[in-house]
Amino acid sequence: MKDAAELVFCPLGGVGEIGMNLALYGFGPAHARDWIIVDCGVTFPDDSLPGVDLVLPDTRFIEEQLERLKGIVITHAHEDHYGALLNLWPRLKVPVWMTPFGAGMLESKRVGEAGAPKVPVTIYRAGERFTVGPFDIEAVAVTHSIPEPVSLAIRTALGLVVHTGDWKLDPDPEIGPLTDEARFRALGDEGVLAMLCDSTNALREGDSPSEKAVGQGLREVIRAAKGRVAITTFSSNVGRIRAIAEAAAECGRQVVVIGRSMQRVINVATELGYLDGIPPFLSEEEYGYLPRQNVVLLCTGSQGEPRAALAKLARDEMRNVALAAGDTVVFSSRVIPGNETAILDIKNRLIDREIKVIEDTDALIHVSGHPRRSELRRMYEWVRPQILVPVHGEAAHLAAQAELARQSGIPRPVQVRNGDMLRLAPGAPEIVDQVPFGRVFKDGAVIGSEEAVGVRDRRRLSFAGHVAVNVVLDDRHQLSGDPDLVAIGLPRADASGEALEELMLDAAIGAVESIPRVRRKDLDLVSESVRRAVRAAANEAWGKKPIVTVFVTQ
Ligand SMILES: [Zn+2]
Ligand SMILES: [Zn+2]
Repeated sequence: MKDAAELVFCPLGGVGEIGMNLALYGFGPAHARDWIIVDCGVTFPDDSLPGVDLVLPDTRFIEEQLERLKGIVITHAHEDHYGALLNLWPRLKVPVWMTPFGAGMLESKRVGEAGAPKVPVTIYRAGERFTVGPFDIEAVAVTHSIPEPVSLAIRTALGLVVHTGDWKLDPDPEIGPLTDEARFRALGDEGVLAMLCDSTNALREGDSPSEKAVGQGLREVIRAAKGRVAITTFSSNVGRIRAIAEAAAECGRQVVVIGRSMQRVINVATELGYLDGIPPFLSEEEYGYLPRQNVVLLCTGSQGEPRAALAKLARDEMRNVALAAGDTVVFSSRVIPGNETAILDIKNRLIDREIKVIEDTDALIHVSGHPRRSELRRMYEWVRPQILVPVHGEAAHLAAQAELARQSGIPRPVQVRNGDMLRLAPGAPEIVDQVPFGRVFKDGAVIGSEEAVGVRDRRRLSFAGHVAVNVVLDDRHQLSGDPDLVAIGLPRADASGEALEELMLDAAIGAVESIPRVRRKDLDLVSESVRRAVRAAANEAWGKKPIVTVFVTQ
């Protein structure tokens, strides 16, 4: 029984959180499983991670058995699904499968990042089947909010698993095929052991509106506008970009694109034909020649990113492009939690300048790319899995989908979290192991744990600053002059106006002098006494304890 093959699923990211998706599928006996990774995504840091550029899943577990890792399959080119690839690939070094758009996005990112690895990518398309180790994989077309999203039907000797990736049932997408109902139904007929399913909108009733309807909404907004119209959206949503371009053309306006990430996506999409038949985009140098009523600005920065185009427009600090009173700014996007303040700041700046702001609560100008409850129910009816594992969600979304699956008659809804190893077959589904998981940080050119990159100290520094003290003792263990003391990030004076550096310096001198001379031979003892005294003095005067570094020399 110990050597019997098992099929397991083990997420290292993306379950219990939205972002940083990385799923492992394993096949074989417990001591010798072959693995594939599905998706390799990132999360973006918040204010609690000062200086950190990206948050990546910790892949320690799979790095320790690399000879058994057979490949990485990417479902689509959203950052939460492929954003960690360039950073983690050097540790994993296995072949990668992507669609043409994903491969194009990866290559364009690689070119822009000095030292990024050349990842060996095998191209696949929806409808195709390929083999990775013991896994026979079929890509099934779905609709989402980026070109070429797919679900994966993963066949093994122990059963067929459907990994949905991100999807919705859009009856009228701007680009690409519909979700392939016939294939999903056929998979259901074949018999599906388990479905790992997108939970993002499992709390929302009904169906999501289509991208075409959003295009219509944008058209009405543009038509009603008097001056210039600036529209910001997620740059990877090529269908939305296309809809904006078509709407602009119908309203007699030309589209000027600003923002590097938007330009990058447009280049990749143009090469693959996704923008065929629409008038060419103009660059910001041409903006000045266009009458106000004949322009649509398509720009990055929908999440309030301070260095993106929209923030610069709001601060009126672009050389070639500006907005004025009477113009309109449209947020064809949603607010990703954590970005509320930054976005509000931009809106306030625009409103102060009498620029009209339109957001997704004012008109149908944005829609999510994830399935609501009616769409989930329809997918359950097509696929009819034995086991349903909710993924791609926080606890509330996962629980809501598990309950919906139960109500819909799916025999075994199972909830897991990152690091749980779930055996899907043989036998009843069961969590058979816990594996190491977590987050690592990309911090400049270094990737490492919170400890390794020093984030914890950086947080403390930002809260209470740093004090360096240099104490020099002569050969009789007496202070040879006053210590040097430098404080960074501390207030200059306490509430009564006493200079903080003076107070701390007095404390340092007092600490040395209070140690009997014979005991000052122990320089570590001196150093620790001074450190404590300086911290205590700062705390008494200020109410906070800075980081204190003391050097004692003789
Ligand atoms: Zn996505
Ligand atoms: Zn996603």
